Amino acid sequence: MSKNILDCAIVGGGPAGLTAGLYTTRGGLENVTMFEKGMPGGQITQSSEIENYPGVTGDITGMDLMMPWPEQCQKFGLKHEMVEVKQIRKDGDIFSVIMSDESITHSRSVIVCTGSSPRRAGFKGEDEFFGKGVSTCATCDGFFYKDKEVAVIGGGDTALEEALYLAKICSKVYLIHRRDTFRAAPNTVKRVEGNEKIELILNSTPEEVYGDAMGVTGIKVKDKEGNIRDIEVPGVFTFVGNDVNNQTLIQNDGTFLCDVNEQGQVIVDLSMKTSIPGLFAAGDMRIEAPKQVVSAAGDGAVAGIAAISYVDELLN
Ligand code: FAD
Ligand code: NAP
Repeated sequence: MSKNILDCAIVGGGPAGLTAGLYTTRGGLENVTMFEKGMPGGQITQSSEIENYPGVTGDITGMDLMMPWPEQCQKFGLKHEMVEVKQIRKDGDIFSVIMSDESITHSRSVIVCTGSSPRRAGFKGEDEFFGKGVSTCATCDGFFYKDKEVAVIGGGDTALEEALYLAKICSKVYLIHRRDTFRAAPNTVKRVEGNEKIELILNSTPEEVYGDAMGVTGIKVKDKEGNIRDIEVPGVFTFVGNDVNNQTLIQNDGTFLCDVNEQGQVIVDLSMKTSIPGLFAAGDMRIEAPKQVVSAAGDGAVAGIAAISYVDELLN
């Protein structure tokens, strides 16, 4: 096999990409590189606690969980480049993985696992104070508000779990949600409702985060009747969902390399095959993703096995 052309390029090094790396290399593909723009591990490394990964019973963080994964893959020959992929293209049977005009890697197959990114809630002051009191990562920034009051926005698993985490550090957490029922798992809702440091502010949306040169000093919240409540807090955490990272699939004419649905999620079959032969998608970015570490890892394994078959058929 030519050393100039990869057998498989893996784009993204979260749970899906790392597991794809493990299965492709351990399954016999010799020339596999994983391209990851940051540290491998993916978005779960931001989580303060994970309690639903099978076999893991201790009180561990997302970072603890992901720490050994890259080493395990490298043992079987996975190469890793810390670089951002800009675009994936296909000409004939060969894919181009493009970092820049000067840096292009060719590959027979590609597994794209670029995951998803936190969404902005869209209230006044959110962008202005982002990184200066507005945050999407409790593990990263929670400690800045030790023994202080903070606000959390959202009603999904992330918002409620991170509200519980912040309640351990902060003196009080205002949990602001636009409805009166939550999307989060019932057990998590129960824990939040039972936590005396968390005050629920329901049927309410953030109007504005305000502050001064030093950062956020408060948030104005509007209820269904239009009443405004002013809450003085130095920290506001938003957890209002995620957008799929599908930018690498956008071609020069603005179309996607493979079929995607109206939310931009990649359409795959049960083998994680996309509409383009040799291109696989795995994890949070695919249609109907349960958005769990265990399912992202499962997808990565399935895609890895399918990529091995594809490359074998191509070469034989
Ligand atoms: P990601 O983890 O998003 O990884 C994608 C990777 O691709 C990233 O490392 C990114 O840097 C990289 N990348 C993106 N674009 C490019 C590019 N152009 N070039 C190179 N690299 C790129 N799930 C659970 O099962 N249990 C939990 O308790 C849990 N808690 C969570 C808590 C939080 C705060 C969050 C945000 C998520 C949580 N999840 C949890 C969900 C879980 O983290 C995701 O479902 C999982 O990480 C998805 O894995 P992935 O590999 O598909 O994508
Ligand atoms: P999510 O489930 O999409 O929840 C987003 C929340 O933000 C919803 O409650 C939504 O309100 C609210 N929201 C959206 N836009 C808003 C806006 N502009 N202003 C105010 N509120 C807004 O997102 P998530 O919590 O990040 O979870 C993403 C996925 O990861 C889910 O599938 C989740 O189950 C999974 N996850 C799992 C775990 C776990 O298993 N332990 C942990 C974290 C995440 P509405 O409810 O009214 O729509």
